[in-house]
Amino acid sequence: MNHSLKALNTFGIDQYASEIVCAENEQQLLDAWQAANALSQPVLILGEGSNVLFLDAFHGTVIVNRIRGIEVTEQPEAWLVHAGAGENWHHVVQYTLQHGMPGLENLALIPGCVGSSPIQNIGAYGVELQRVCDYVDCVELATGKLVRVSAAECRFGYRDSIFKHEYQDRFAIVAVGLRLPKQWQPVLTYGDLVRLDPATVTPQQVFDSVCLMRTTKLPDPKVNGNAGSFFKNPVVAAEMAEALLSRFPGAPHYPQADGSVKLAAGWLIDQCQLKGQTIGGAAVHRQQALVLINVDNATSEDVVKLAHHVRQKVGEKFNVWLEPEVRFIGQMGEVNAVEIIA
Ligand code: NAP
Repeated sequence: MNHSLKALNTFGIDQYASEIVCAENEQQLLDAWQAANALSQPVLILGEGSNVLFLDAFHGTVIVNRIRGIEVTEQPEAWLVHAGAGENWHHVVQYTLQHGMPGLENLALIPGCVGSSPIQNIGAYGVELQRVCDYVDCVELATGKLVRVSAAECRFGYRDSIFKHEYQDRFAIVAVGLRLPKQWQPVLTYGDLVRLDPATVTPQQVFDSVCLMRTTKLPDPKVNGNAGSFFKNPVVAAEMAEALLSRFPGAPHYPQADGSVKLAAGWLIDQCQLKGQTIGGAAVHRQQALVLINVDNATSEDVVKLAHHVRQKVGEKFNVWLEPEVRFIGQMGEVNAVEIIA
């Protein structure tokens, strides 16, 4: 158990795996999976490790997906961008903008790889991957068969998709197809973007504004390890939101199409005066309470204890029980993160 995972998770947690293999093409990925399978070892396929917390040493093979390549096909109405799963997401955003193909600018600076983007249907500033995703190419691990999953089949939801459920262990994502309509429509509903003029704004201005907001509010993983938003924004029933708003009229709340109401987890945490709270080497980020950071060689125990503390405080004050967005990885694979911090 001597292969370090420290550089392979943006939290910077010092954990180990039995084996780490870097796959640059489908065949290498399949070979690594089959070798581990022959030894009855668990497998974890990783992009840039930007949404994981390693709780323990991983008793199996970590396959680092580095399948690269960006190909563009022009259609009358849109550009089709086919990007390898191991491409850095932000690099693809920059590439498309530089080549005059807007549509991804709201999703700038999201950490991680292209292959991870459909798994949790990444989203920021009013745009989710599902808006631009055309298909996801996968390899079925047991058979080696290439399968194209259409966007509709991906069953995208809020930070959710089929790749977190039925397809989780059966398929490895090898590429993502993005469809960027030539008729660009800016999405200016969130944060500082509302100040931009929809009549004159350019994709580059949206990109710059998103980059500025993110770099001011969010910690740089190279300075303080983190995995982005640690908790999901809770979506609660309308009656529950009403009860909460009668006690806390200033609470940010966003009604959803199905009648439920999304609350801002960062605000709830902040109201409990938890910004800057530390346990061991882990802390609640001072600029954005939704992010837990590694300030001083945090262990996964520190992060779990801190997450538990945050969940308890928010639960006691608001009767809203936060759930991690970050995926927790134990010795044999993913474990139930809610149970771990409850
Ligand atoms: P913020 O502007 O402080 O707002 C807090 C939350 O309220 C956001 O998370 C967002 O929910 C929601 N919200 C804000 N304006 C909204 C609107 N006009 N309509 C509907 N919902 C609205 O958020 P922030 O923390 O700086 O993040 C900005 C964006 O980047 C958000 O979309 C956030 O999800 C995304 N982000 C994601 C991660 C991650 O790791 N997943 C990390 C950082 C930022 P939603 O999250 O549902 O959009």
